[in-house]
Amino acid sequence: NDTKELHCETVIISTGATAKYLGLESEQHYLKMGGGVSACAICDGFFYRNQEVVIVGAGDSACEEAHYLSKLCKKVTMLVRSEKFRASKIMEARVRKTENIEILMNHDTVEVLGDGQVVTGVKALNKTTNETFEIPSTGFFVAIGHKPNTDIFKDFITLDETGYIVNTPGSSKTNVEGVFVSGDAADHVYRQAITAAGTGCMAALDAERYLAGKE
Ligand SMILES: Cc1cc2nc3c(=O)[nH]c(=O)nc-3n(C[C@H](O)[C@H](O)[C@H](O)COP(=O)(O)OP(=O)(O)OC[C@H]3O[C@@H](n4cnc5c(N)ncnc54)[C@H](O)[C@@H]3O)c2cc1C
Repeated sequence: NDTKELHCETVIISTGATAKYLGLESEQHYLKMGGGVSACAICDGFFYRNQEVVIVGAGDSACEEAHYLSKLCKKVTMLVRSEKFRASKIMEARVRKTENIEILMNHDTVEVLGDGQVVTGVKALNKTTNETFEIPSTGFFVAIGHKPNTDIFKDFITLDETGYIVNTPGSSKTNVEGVFVSGDAADHVYRQAITAAGTGCMAALDAERYLAGKE
């Protein structure tokens, strides 16, 4: 809270990163139900094996996740809200040449459809024709980015242009002596529990060595 000041000799920041969602009521409903909305294809894709899914996004991560899902799922429909991908050419080419990925450019998600418990489809809007239609789907993957939970550190700790904490490569050190970072707050690449645990261990060892060096 804002009223109590705590003093310490070292700090490990592990505030993580928050996945961005579209903010649709239906999306949030099925996300909370655990009924078919996910922001992590690598984590949850397996549950949709041999099924049809929809993914929304247009960046490198969205392309990587769509391609990953295409290896597990019968069909992947990719909704891109504008007429252009934001991904690199190579990632765009990879999804474009994957047979079971259908790319719908200039399409918005209107609603995530379901029976109240699980997702059964997605209502999409073709912004070119202004027509809405339904895509049968048991999974709705959101791949529109993450926001690291680092705003409170921005005046003290060096962040990169997207807000991730910058650490010395191969260590958990930040630009401030005695302040270390672990997990997704400094990791825009892997963002997995196992990598967060690994860097957590690194930060603990770095902090311990830092304290030992002060004795
Ligand atoms: C839907 C989903 C499924 C996933 N499935 C898997 C999976 O199957 N396998 C896998 O390896 N990974 C999975 N992940 C990724 C994994 O959850 C993360 O990589 C991991 O939790 C990151 O750990 P962390 O400690 O860095 O951050 P988090 O686990 O996000 O923890 C950060 C903590 O800091 C707290 N916090 C934030 N800001 C503040 C603040 N200002 N003050 C105090 N506390 C604060 C938060 O409340 C939270 O408790 C999944 C992620 C998502 C979103």
